[in-house]
Amino acid sequence: MQYVSTRGQSQPLPFCDAVRAGLADDGGLFVPERLPDFSGRLDELAAMDYPDLAEAIVREFATDIPAADLRALVEATYAPDVFPGGVAPLATAGGLHIQELFHGPTLAFKDVALQWLGNLFDYILAHRGGSMTVLAATSGDTGAAAIAALGGRANLSLFVMHPAGRISPLQYRQMTTTAHANVHNLAVEGTFDDTQHILKALNNDAEFKQRVSLGAVNSVNFARILAQIVYYFDAWAQLGKPAQFRVAVPTGNFGDILAGYYAKQMGLPIERLLLATNCNDILARFFATGVYQRGEVFETLSPAMDIQVASNFERYLYDHAGQNPETLRGLMDGFSATGEIVLPAGDAGVDPLFYTASANEEQTLDTIHELHNETGYVADPHTAAGVFAAKQFRAEHGDDGVPMVCLATAHPAKFPEAIARATGHGDLATHPTLDALADLPTRCTTIPTSETAVMHFIEEHI
Ligand SMILES: *Cc1c(COP(=O)(O)O)cnc(C)c1O
Repeated sequence: MQYVSTRGQSQPLPFCDAVRAGLADDGGLFVPERLPDFSGRLDELAAMDYPDLAEAIVREFATDIPAADLRALVEATYAPDVFPGGVAPLATAGGLHIQELFHGPTLAFKDVALQWLGNLFDYILAHRGGSMTVLAATSGDTGAAAIAALGGRANLSLFVMHPAGRISPLQYRQMTTTAHANVHNLAVEGTFDDTQHILKALNNDAEFKQRVSLGAVNSVNFARILAQIVYYFDAWAQLGKPAQFRVAVPTGNFGDILAGYYAKQMGLPIERLLLATNCNDILARFFATGVYQRGEVFETLSPAMDIQVASNFERYLYDHAGQNPETLRGLMDGFSATGEIVLPAGDAGVDPLFYTASANEEQTLDTIHELHNETGYVADPHTAAGVFAAKQFRAEHGDDGVPMVCLATAHPAKFPEAIARATGHGDLATHPTLDALADLPTRCTTIPTSETAVMHFIEEHI
């Protein structure tokens, strides 16, 4: 299987090379040249445990990894000591199926894909030689999952930038208590946008990129999307193989829901994907109106969804453009110039597969409150956006018996203030993993908002 760039001006690459490169060198995103069809093998897949299922799906995409090596990678990633509560178990609450993706080391669904990516980087570097540098920018929530995935890896250095003083004490502890010498936390004296700006600038510096062998761990890396496809199949199996089902997905960068969109094309009977956002609703507006328009970013209770431009959306647009890279380049160039992409929207919206809903702050808190009150289930603010979308869908369409899965993307203990505000109880959201961080020493370097400063720091510390 080869991976082509959405912009069509990079060499197609086999899986491991595309993973190693992260972003294509023409600025596009790698996509598989075609998606495998599992529609004739669904029963077979449904009988598998999680590692077997992951292996069966990944094998069709990672054709350059020998079978025994792939088996070892998948087993190491989805082992019971890495995901003690299971990888993607289904709970039920209020007639909804809640797929808990937060049982990994940092209690966030990003562990499901990043643990796999960490093992994959290790494998690729061990077999191909060389070293790798990873630079990440986080508004607080995702850095910890990257650190848990890449900490202690041989021949790999990780630099995580966060905006100094602008992340919660819990988020700070989760990142800076790491004992691994290959992990460097940088508190940038600026905003999250400043850190993203630095990340982009260093990624656009071809000479620097080559010199330090810069890789990508954000969801532009196709390996992450691939790992996320698996749990959609797992949800369907756990539901008992219904003829159709729906999935509500708390969405930021469009990575998680893109995996569901691919799963459907691979033959999984997903009837509807509910795209749930907070008040940063650029994607919801797109699917309702056909207009994708850059706007202001609002800080919300669900910070991992506070995004303006969804990096993975380009993969979806590429399909929408008939997988024609020239058409896609035209759209992206237009977006750079005007901050807007306009597609014709029919009566059912742009794509009837997607239903959209946006929960504002009050609706998010109300959803957490009601769900807890009615069922005892405590959802984090990201998960609550999905539950809000599911409830709105049911209010509009009635309950037709088609099962509804809500992806739960973070453990509520990661957002104790929001849970306390919503429920009135200060002690509902705790987790021993987070409690254990309280007394550990922290390690972090403060650095000015400067590309050169970050560049020098990296060069001195790899
Ligand atoms: C990253 C994240 C999301 C959004 O996922 P995307 O793939 O970026 O759409 C939702 N919830 C949580 C808790 C996250 O960390």
